[in-house]
Amino acid sequence: MSATKIIHSIPSDPLTGAISVPVYQTSTFIQEAPGVNKGFDYARSNNPTRKVLEDLVAKLEHGHSGFAFATGLAAIDSVLKLLSAGDEIVAVDDIYGGAYRLFTHVYEKLGIKVNYVDTTEVDNVAEAVTSKTKLVWIESPTNPTLKVSDIKAISNIVKSVNALLVVDNTFGSPIGQNPIDLGADIIIHSGTKYIGGHSDLVAGLVITKTKELSEKIKFVQNASGGVLGPWDCFLTIRGIETLDLRFRKQCENALKVALYLEQHDAVDQVFYPGLKSHKNHEIANSQQNGLFGGVVSFSLKNDTQDAANEFVTSTAFFKLAESLGGVKSLLCYPAQMTHASIPREKRLQAGITDSLIRLSCGIEEADDLILDLENAFKSVQKEAEVLFV
Ligand SMILES: *Cc1c(COP(=O)(O)O)cnc(C)c1O
Repeated sequence: MSATKIIHSIPSDPLTGAISVPVYQTSTFIQEAPGVNKGFDYARSNNPTRKVLEDLVAKLEHGHSGFAFATGLAAIDSVLKLLSAGDEIVAVDDIYGGAYRLFTHVYEKLGIKVNYVDTTEVDNVAEAVTSKTKLVWIESPTNPTLKVSDIKAISNIVKSVNALLVVDNTFGSPIGQNPIDLGADIIIHSGTKYIGGHSDLVAGLVITKTKELSEKIKFVQNASGGVLGPWDCFLTIRGIETLDLRFRKQCENALKVALYLEQHDAVDQVFYPGLKSHKNHEIANSQQNGLFGGVVSFSLKNDTQDAANEFVTSTAFFKLAESLGGVKSLLCYPAQMTHASIPREKRLQAGITDSLIRLSCGIEEADDLILDLENAFKSVQKEAEVLFV
């Protein structure tokens, strides 16, 4: 969807002409007679501010309907509630850690089995699906090693067993990639990341392809009640107004940063789907509209926790924090932060080495970000020399 369409899909207030979307901070709505209302009766079921956001994200992702939840994980949870005991899920092996925790520690004990496979190889998906598979769950690109899966090819396999394909499109962003067009049935987003875009809220979104799925998610949303409040809906809508602008700048910065890192002496590997050296570059290029996101990961030749620690505490513009997708650049150290709870051996298998560092490029000037990284490399170098003396 073009920037023009995004901006002009956000309605002004029909009541007052207010150009921005009003925050309907209300729990209930007066009824003229029992059951006679203006389309809203209770704020868990629906809220006018939330409705603007939900309609907007449905358009952004070319879906039938959108649903806003309190967090990305609440959005994921609502999709899992479509399942029953005995059902199975085939999921991408380096799935978001919070989703793994939810699948394993909440849903497996309720009788839902999850089979994790490397979905970058389509054959692995074909081998893993059974007649009990109800969902195939992928992320593309993944976190933090940015593996890319062929959504269209996977959707063909999923259709052949009558299951649903769910794509967590948080890293793709609706600007870069629209999975429903590629055969997905349900899209989820952590609105906390690119969509909100200012590191000032947590939010989750579900977008459904069909009316039938919309009715099911709508039922769960109202029955379980994990909705996004009106103020955060307003902030998310405001975030979406600049999503196109921000995401393009972040992609531009990330590509420059990735190219800089690729030629740096102290760097071992760089993970960025926009690089020709990335093993899924071709499929990423065709499926992501040439927009590869703001996240770049890399490892150091000095593959030690000490070197990585020195690096991540030596930057000025890249702030050390979890999360990604905001206007301010962030960096994170997966081995000791997001992936600290995973045993080292498993972590290494997933490519998360002792020195792997994840950058989330913001909208600052690329030259400033590169200078910041250059200074951090010097600091690591200096520290190593001190130790040597
Ligand atoms: C952050 C994230 C989530 C979870 O979203 P929250 O808003 O933190 O609950 C899910 N998937 C991906 C890929 C994420 O990066």
